[in-house]
Amino acid sequence: MAYYNTNIKSIFKEFATSQKGLSNTAAEEKLAKFGKNSFEKTKKIGFFVKFLQQFKNIMIIILLLSAIISTTTAAVSHNTESLFEGLLIFAIVIINAIVGVFQEQKAENALSALEKKIEPFSKVFRNGNLINVKTSEVVVGDVVELKAGDAIPADIRIISCNQFKCDESSLTGESQPVEKFSNEITKQNVPLAEQFNMCFSGTTVVHGSATGVVVATGKDTEIGKIAKILTKTIKEKTPLEKNIDKLGKAITFAVLGIAVIVFIVQSITQKQTSFLDHLLTAVALAVAAIPESLPAVITIIMALGVEKLANQNAIVKKLSAVETLGCCNVICSDKTGTLTQNKMTVNGIYTNLKFQSKLEPIQNEKFIEIASTCISAKFNEKGEIFGDATEISIIQFLQNNNINCKNISNKFKILQINEFNSKTKIMSTVVEKDGKKSLFVKGAFDYIFPKCSQIEINGLVENFDKNLKNKIVKQNENFCENGERVLAFAYKRLETPSDDDLIFVGLVSISDPPKADAVKAVETSKRAGLKTIMITGDHPTTAFAIAKKLKIAKNKNEVLTGAELDKISVKQLSKIIENYSVFARVTPEHKLMIVKALKRNGKIVAMTGDGVNDAPSIRAANIGTAMGQTGTDVTKEVSDIIISDDNFSTIVVAIKQGRTIYQNITKTILFLMSTNIVEVLGIFVTSLVMPGNVFLTASQILFINLVTDSLPAFALGIEPPEPDIMTKKPRDPNKSILSGKTGSSIIYQGFIQSLLVLVMFVLSVKFFSEKQASTMVFMTICLMQIIHAINCKTEKSLFKINPFNNKFFNFSFIFLLLMILGVYFIPFFANLFSLVSLSGIEMLIVAICSISIIPLVEIGKIFIKQ
Ligand code: ADP
Ligand code: MG
Repeated sequence: MAYYNTNIKSIFKEFATSQKGLSNTAAEEKLAKFGKNSFEKTKKIGFFVKFLQQFKNIMIIILLLSAIISTTTAAVSHNTESLFEGLLIFAIVIINAIVGVFQEQKAENALSALEKKIEPFSKVFRNGNLINVKTSEVVVGDVVELKAGDAIPADIRIISCNQFKCDESSLTGESQPVEKFSNEITKQNVPLAEQFNMCFSGTTVVHGSATGVVVATGKDTEIGKIAKILTKTIKEKTPLEKNIDKLGKAITFAVLGIAVIVFIVQSITQKQTSFLDHLLTAVALAVAAIPESLPAVITIIMALGVEKLANQNAIVKKLSAVETLGCCNVICSDKTGTLTQNKMTVNGIYTNLKFQSKLEPIQNEKFIEIASTCISAKFNEKGEIFGDATEISIIQFLQNNNINCKNISNKFKILQINEFNSKTKIMSTVVEKDGKKSLFVKGAFDYIFPKCSQIEINGLVENFDKNLKNKIVKQNENFCENGERVLAFAYKRLETPSDDDLIFVGLVSISDPPKADAVKAVETSKRAGLKTIMITGDHPTTAFAIAKKLKIAKNKNEVLTGAELDKISVKQLSKIIENYSVFARVTPEHKLMIVKALKRNGKIVAMTGDGVNDAPSIRAANIGTAMGQTGTDVTKEVSDIIISDDNFSTIVVAIKQGRTIYQNITKTILFLMSTNIVEVLGIFVTSLVMPGNVFLTASQILFINLVTDSLPAFALGIEPPEPDIMTKKPRDPNKSILSGKTGSSIIYQGFIQSLLVLVMFVLSVKFFSEKQASTMVFMTICLMQIIHAINCKTEKSLFKINPFNNKFFNFSFIFLLLMILGVYFIPFFANLFSLVSLSGIEMLIVAICSISIIPLVEIGKIFIKQ
């Protein structure tokens, strides 16, 4: 029999569980027996397969084939030099592939560490206590608590629920939320979409709350059976990566063209050298100059940057967000809990037409009753409170007055709870005491007060007159001007049908001061050309008072309210939105409107959110930002980044990191492209102009590609941020990475290096010998590259930064220097790479040429402006 046909008792029996859930040991046993509540992940690719994957590049295959042919022919003809060259190429290609695997591994590890950080949790009863467990460790028989915004962790039979609605579109395609109930269904063969007493893994709660018992987990769930759930990938190609791919293709064609020309020219002009050697040189050139590893390097840089960000409490879910962060120019932030501390304390109340500070005893019974019963917060067995900060502050205030909310609420029968929601800004409960029913209401002042026609003063209900009303309105304004959040309390007797209006009881004023680091972060973002917009459901006066403290707004006319937004369209809003920095009394729908209006103006928008209704605006924003602590599963799911400490300042940190990562990628690209030009141009020009002279051998080219290219490129990718990174304007997202300064710099730096080595080669061939010249060129290119990497650390003059602040860079510089010197000074390697020994003067020329790249590039930096 299906679970929707079964009553709860039998289900409890089947899974040996109860209303109080499983015991810890029973849960552990079940986990061991039935396995994790997850879908089988794509199998991990082993080292060897990954290693083989490095060879799926056509150029590498050609290179290997040529090397094989070259070695076998050399072996047959006892040509030891060619034999060594061939074997060396093999060795280098294999080392290259191993390095590639390790790089990939590193990126993967960084990303999977992130995945662990966004691992979801569920609220489950174990040993009778409601606790958070990893969703993957939920087992059948677990009793689960669900509320709006939760992702449903498994297939669940509902035990009890309150206005419980689920979004099942991912499972059934039904786009409207489905209302659920807990009754047994007697009909058989009911389709999923109509199993109203069940809720399913992979769907989400959009409204209300429920308790249910898990009947299926992992592969046994409905969604698991159809295997529809997509393994979430955070690695999708970013715009930059796509750009680089395109660029890579263009370069590939250019380099292939050049390689073919080099090959043809050399084969014609140098008949004494074998055809295979020419092929090897041409292919080695192609392998070295085609930036096939660039996408991988960029992914690694991003992944490492993202890993670093995670340690700073910003968890990037989509790699593309890293890039977008760098061009973000508006941050829309919720006020409560993000800009403010969310440490709410009741400062005072206003009842019986009197203000009382929090230190004076409460003198209004009705107020105490409403405060104790009209709450969604829950107490656990130890008496701890779970709920939102506003309610907790009120309960604590009562407790400080020696009032036990639980005892008071026990005197009432709670018939219905209408939870607070950010649209109505009101919560209410229908309660019964001594057979009399009442409606207790608490919520935003301006939403409750207009509905009140009477007021209770010292236990007596009086009609409102204008005078009284004004007094209360005034008091509310007073509270708001101090930046305090105000809640109004009212009630209605339900037994007298004539009573349509509410009876006003009083006000509570709650303070929630701004976070100290938020003030600083707002200032930082201002300097960085970012506008901060504060969004809140609070009263405009409260909002402005806080915004002023945070230096988000100076003037009251920078505040726009939800009521005003209701009157205009997105298009109209986009025309005026630049004048506003605070949005008050808004609903989540307004947030979506704000995002749309800003995007219409070409802004790159970060939008924060936590509640289930924030999902659309988070999805619409360029950088959807979910709060890690207060955020619901639904908002986290649609977000691009999760701020795990709920701090506004962390968003600013993330933007800084986003800018740094992009800048570092620029540095890497500048380095790789400007140095690759040297090899290509050098070989191309010499093969045309000075045929018969070997500029670089195949193995030399590969050595340069493997050693002096990749390590500095990687080191540049993890440079610390430059000091002025947060004083610059955000990057223009429409500009390609090669436009402007970077492109011109690549050309200038590439040409100046090529010119240097070409002139040196020509002169050395003339004044020394071809062998000397070739060795000098090799040594110069190697040394110049690692020195040029220092140039690439900044677009500015090197004197304006500290060039020694990247430890990894420094170590790799020294390591590479030793390696280059080692190849030259250790006879075995020198032989291997066909190097001859240089005279003192030749060495001096090599040293001067290599070092001169610093002043030459410095001069270029003066002239190359944006
Ligand atoms: P924010 O987005 O700044 O957190 P909310 O939409 O949560 O704002 O709150 C808006 C207003 O609703 C508050 O000023 C307060 O008057 C009222 N309010 C907030 N929380 C509750 C609650 N739990 N119950 C009743 N009213 C509330
Ligand atoms: Mg709130």
